Amino acid sequence: MSGYDKNIRFVSLSSGSSGNCFLISYNGTNILIDVGIPYKKIEECLRNFGLRFDDINAIFLTHSHIDHIRAIKQCAKINKIDIYGLKDTLQYIINTYDITEDYEDLFHIIYGSEVITLDNGFDVEPISSYHDVPSVCYQITVGDINLAIVTDLGCFTKKMLSRFNKLDILVIEANYNDDMLDESTKYPEMLKRRIRGGDGHLSNKECAEFIKEVYSDRLKKVFLAHLSIETNTPSLAQTEVINNLNLLLDKHNGEIPDINVLDRFEITEIYKGEN
Ligand SMILES: [Zn+2]
Ligand SMILES: [Zn+2]
Repeated sequence: MSGYDKNIRFVSLSSGSSGNCFLISYNGTNILIDVGIPYKKIEECLRNFGLRFDDINAIFLTHSHIDHIRAIKQCAKINKIDIYGLKDTLQYIINTYDITEDYEDLFHIIYGSEVITLDNGFDVEPISSYHDVPSVCYQITVGDINLAIVTDLGCFTKKMLSRFNKLDILVIEANYNDDMLDESTKYPEMLKRRIRGGDGHLSNKECAEFIKEVYSDRLKKVFLAHLSIETNTPSLAQTEVINNLNLLLDKHNGEIPDINVLDRFEITEIYKGEN
């Protein structure tokens, strides 16, 4: 990881089925990926980094589920922040939150294959994924760092995997443990099928398989994200992913990337360039 730009900051403000939000800052440009927690909570988190909503240049949305868009109405109406998302995602927001024509200029349609370059050489690349509503993951290049945020997907294909460059940092969903999902009495069978299905979420084992597919010597940090509170625990996710990845890569602990779990509610500093 040599040559990292000094002004990069990559932070998880929240991760899980109760809300997802990431902040990426680079050379004075600040973006949020998803705004799935309350507006006030995001405001409070931003304050930790000396930022306000007015400092946010753009919001990129993965999909229209509430745990990814909870604060979007205020971000549009109060702060008039540019919002990027798939056509279906934006249409859902405009219909649901009664966004009038006055605000429609803020909404920018993205496609699952088009790189968006912001000021300061900040490249954001949506990659179509597989979920029960139209969804994308994001690959982001800031300076010479490649990072990806991959959550809310039931499966992955060769075509999807071929879109990822050699990553330095990967945030990847580890939603559930197979046995805990089987044994859950809270979830009806239909919901269990949805979670397991190709349009649902990744299990801990599938998460390890995804990491194996994008693995290179360059990948140093992996953060497990979007854990279910019902059917996973942070320690189980970490152990299961590490054990499976060791097997898949035929390596031992210490030879695979650092694998940590993002906190559900607390801020996790994923990467910060040295000053
Ligand atoms: Zn979600
Ligand atoms: Zn979702």
